[in-house]
Amino acid sequence: MSEEFQDHQIRDVIKINYKYTMGGQSKFFIELKNNKRLLGTKCTKCGKTWMPPRINCSDCYEPADWVELKQTGTIEVSTIVWYTTSAFIKAIPYGVGYIRLDGAETALLQGIFSENLVPSKIKKGKRVKAVFNKRRVGKMTDFFFVPEDEYDNWISKPEYEEGV
Ligand SMILES: [Zn+2]
Repeated sequence: MSEEFQDHQIRDVIKINYKYTMGGQSKFFIELKNNKRLLGTKCTKCGKTWMPPRINCSDCYEPADWVELKQTGTIEVSTIVWYTTSAFIKAIPYGVGYIRLDGAETALLQGIFSENLVPSKIKKGKRVKAVFNKRRVGKMTDFFFVPEDEYDNWISKPEYEEGV
């Protein structure tokens, strides 16, 4: 005797509250949130300056010290984003790129916004400056870069402000 199996399904929602740590890189996010400072790290042995910060130098594995970097930099490579997650859908199209901050030897992947976004505005070699959200939570989305010639317009908007 065999009876065909029939499963009974109920649609439901799982909601999860959780927290995670930024570990050794926490200082970067705390300084970003509280003081609008962009911290990199400098290797205690070879002197290489890392941005994003590395707690240990990725070249020689020695400890690195925190250093404050300038909030201006140069685009090394970029693209325009047309497809994204729900978190950024209102911002499309926007740029993303690797930006080498002045004083750093490595580049940071970050958003590049422009009021007139065309490829020539965010191409390699263009100078950019960091703009900060007034409401910061200690995440990478607390700041973004804009072309230097648009900086004053961006920081005059009510939701954004200049760095230090
Ligand atoms: Zn090193």
